[in-house]
Amino acid sequence: MEPKIRFDNVTKRYGAHTVLDGLDLSIDPGELVAIIGPSGSGKTTVLRVLMTLENIQEGVIYIDGQPFTHVKKGDTLVPASQAHIRKLRSKIGMVFQSFNLFPHMSTLQNCIEAPVQSLGLSKDEAVERARELLNMVGMGDKEDHYPSQLSGGQQQRVAIARALAMRPEILLFDEPTSALDPEMVGEVLQVIRSLASEHSYTMLLVTHQMGFAREVADRVLFFEAGKFVEQGKPDEFFSNPQNPRTQAFLNKVLESN
Ligand code: ADP
Repeated sequence: MEPKIRFDNVTKRYGAHTVLDGLDLSIDPGELVAIIGPSGSGKTTVLRVLMTLENIQEGVIYIDGQPFTHVKKGDTLVPASQAHIRKLRSKIGMVFQSFNLFPHMSTLQNCIEAPVQSLGLSKDEAVERARELLNMVGMGDKEDHYPSQLSGGQQQRVAIARALAMRPEILLFDEPTSALDPEMVGEVLQVIRSLASEHSYTMLLVTHQMGFAREVADRVLFFEAGKFVEQGKPDEFFSNPQNPRTQAFLNKVLESN
């Protein structure tokens, strides 16, 4: 089976600081991978380079077996054009820690803007699809509300509907509950849980919620200093971590929960 996403020896640097260090990673279609690890280890950077919010300095990222950051020219790969990147990036949706809704647009407008502008949907089609998605995330009765009139949990549910409105095949979640008050975490996790149960999406989830990662992920990756130190199926990974650094991290995190 062709991986949905493949990082081949990807290096990302900020100046002299190497954040991703020759990263190799393959993710299967429909797989939900949770990325955990200490702060500053490069977890968010994995998502940001996939979303092409950041350039990489070395290596190649493939989507569906096609070079994403590069294109084939004869026998070599050369950096891709913006048009090529945009085309493949349309398969990817991202949900941010801080929601990032358009503040001057209502819930409904947030969910129809990009489908109309970028996918070329008619307004009626976009509205119909947005309403379905807002109902799915339990926000159907708030379509005229502006982000400032919504709680953090509600804003994040709208942000998920907005990402889905672009019909992505890959969903990236960057600590989607870490900016929320504790009582709102559950409602957002519930939406992600229902998406995870469908298996039509390939999902990458950066999270500090170990219990949730264990429950929904097909695979857990422990990230440290720009590399994967250990990975495994959630039950094995959490009950019997092999690497001393994974053990130390899990002990620390689970103690503070
Ligand atoms: P994590 O998600 O694991 O907390 P990040 O991927 O956000 O880690 O960051 C990894 C490292 O990259 C950190 O040391 C961070 O300071 C650095 N970094 C992230 N973004 C930038 C940037 N725009 N400029 C310089 N350094 C950055």
